[in-house]
Amino acid sequence: MTQTLTTTDQWLAEFGEALEQGDIDRAVEMFGEQSFWRDLVAFSWNIVTVEGRAGVRSLLEGTLETTRPTGWRTTEEPTEADGITTAWIEFETAVGRGNGLLRLRDGKAWTLLTALYELKGHEEPAHSRRPMGAEHGVNRDRSTWLERREQEAAELGYTTQPEVLIVGGGQAGIALGARLRQLGVPTIIVDKHGRPGDQWRGRYRTLCLHDPVWYDHLPYLKFPENWPVFSPKDKIADWLESYTKVMELNYWANTEAKSASYDETTGEWTVEVEREGMPLTLRPKQLVFATGMSGKARMPEIAGTDVFRGDVHHSSAHPGPDAYRGKKAVVIGSNNSAFDICGALWENDVDVTMVQRSSTHIVKSDSLMEIGLGDLYSERAVASGVTTEKADMIFASLPYRILHEFQIPAYEAMAEKDKDFYDRLEKAGFWLDWGDDGSGLFMKYLRRGSGYYIDVGAADLVANGDVKLVRGQVSHLTEDSVVLEDGTTLPADVVVFATGYNSMNGWVADLIDQETADKLGKVWGLGSDTTKDPGPWEGEQRNMWKPTQVDNLWMHGGNLHQSRHYSLYLALQLKARYEGIETPVYALQEVHHTA
Ligand SMILES: Cc1cc2nc3c(=O)[nH]c(=O)nc-3n(C[C@H](O)[C@H](O)[C@H](O)COP(=O)(O)OP(=O)(O)OC[C@H]3O[C@@H](n4cnc5c(N)ncnc54)[C@H](O)[C@@H]3O)c2cc1C
Repeated sequence: MTQTLTTTDQWLAEFGEALEQGDIDRAVEMFGEQSFWRDLVAFSWNIVTVEGRAGVRSLLEGTLETTRPTGWRTTEEPTEADGITTAWIEFETAVGRGNGLLRLRDGKAWTLLTALYELKGHEEPAHSRRPMGAEHGVNRDRSTWLERREQEAAELGYTTQPEVLIVGGGQAGIALGARLRQLGVPTIIVDKHGRPGDQWRGRYRTLCLHDPVWYDHLPYLKFPENWPVFSPKDKIADWLESYTKVMELNYWANTEAKSASYDETTGEWTVEVEREGMPLTLRPKQLVFATGMSGKARMPEIAGTDVFRGDVHHSSAHPGPDAYRGKKAVVIGSNNSAFDICGALWENDVDVTMVQRSSTHIVKSDSLMEIGLGDLYSERAVASGVTTEKADMIFASLPYRILHEFQIPAYEAMAEKDKDFYDRLEKAGFWLDWGDDGSGLFMKYLRRGSGYYIDVGAADLVANGDVKLVRGQVSHLTEDSVVLEDGTTLPADVVVFATGYNSMNGWVADLIDQETADKLGKVWGLGSDTTKDPGPWEGEQRNMWKPTQVDNLWMHGGNLHQSRHYSLYLALQLKARYEGIETPVYALQEVHHTA
């Protein structure tokens, strides 16, 4: 037995013993002074990170009695690098089984991730628990799989009620729906669009995912090994549509949720929906908003929009370049959508001007793949044994409080590698940034969900002047131009506002009411006190995938990686409630901002 294994096993044995004896003092002492314990539902029935020994004490005082963890063990040989021992672990609680990642430094825990992965007695019907499919023997009342499936689909929402209603059937609603289906929780997903995947089909023609395929898998069913690295949008759309069918989801397309209200006495939501034009009332116990973080378009009110004679629209409604060949376009904004749209317009002989209103962080896609993601999500990672599941857990184990410290050197390396590129952009007048503390793209995404472009080529168009660049704020539109505050006039046949998206609690205001949206509070961000992510420090993404201040209301979404990984924890929380398992929530999210 190696030294690292002995050390780790000893640590786990002692930790387990302390917890079984309820000896919180002893358990707390096993953590370093600087330490982080991130719990995904296993102890806290919440998604929470506690810091330092005081944080560990608080978590244990709040949860140990009900969690009753046992059976701590390593699942493979721990590794050691730079004085840190890293170990994959498993354990059990009173109601479930968990896994995680432990990092020891000087014999004490530096980071601990604990994550629930299944509930005892409610394991998913996988591997040796697969359904038989065929029913051998003879049976005069035999019904086929298809008949049972059709019956369920015909009854659910009409003569039987769903436990969970997911509003929004993009990748997030679909991933969660798939997990709930496997967990046997009656669920309906409603979406306004005509077909699953229309969210992507409707986006501009040239869009391909910015993240590579290893990062994008859905739960249960991975992309085939010959799938393109960067999925073209229509391919993702078709994949989502097929997935919805294969996973047998109760997916109601052409269905809009019109209003929702909660009755505290019955513990039920009343949700008015319109399915294929027909009104219907649904009464789920749990309501999930999977309406899209990039769904609530932020469209600034600009004087003169009504007199402008050309087309004016938000980037999410941009039809693509075809109609604008030979014309003049002004694109307001300088992040992902703005660059993608400028690039496609330029490729189609449109005279394009980009209006940069604030600084933007740009990283070249290949550099990001190589330096930023390569160790976790790449063919190289897979070859070295880092499956997507492992990568998700490694990523989840890095505490948000110090994540930027890991990120800064990676972005410094990218700045160095692509120095010429950045010099050229700055020479062209482009206003660059690397995040408030130099921590780059992923921290910007987690903190504010905006402010960056993953360059797949269009940045060069700005650097070499093919796409004209103007810096400033928009004052107003005239019949045929955009006028900036400094008086600059930009002639335009089409104006695209690539101005981003609003907080998801705006959807709650639309569907329920403003009071409930305020009670829920801002969605997304870490409270990092950096631009567009006001403090205080939250430690986790606000209101995502975890209990909120509004009973039985949940927010789900994020990029494909987050939708895949965190849908597991949200599904387990919903399943536990469905089965009547006690779910005492430790440290329920407080609300500091309403939008
Ligand atoms: C241009 C662009 C590029 C992106 N590229 C990537 C990428 O490379 N990788 C990545 O991981 N992410 C990317 N994202 C971000 C994110 O993954 C996508 O926005 C994704 O579509 C989000 O999925 P979602 O399921 O959370 O929401 P959406 O796909 O936005 O789905 C929400 C759904 O809710 C429905 N809805 C809303 N209100 C109602 C209602 N009242 N009733 C019924 N239905 C309703 C809408 O019709 C919609 O279909 C990109 C986003 C954009 C805009």
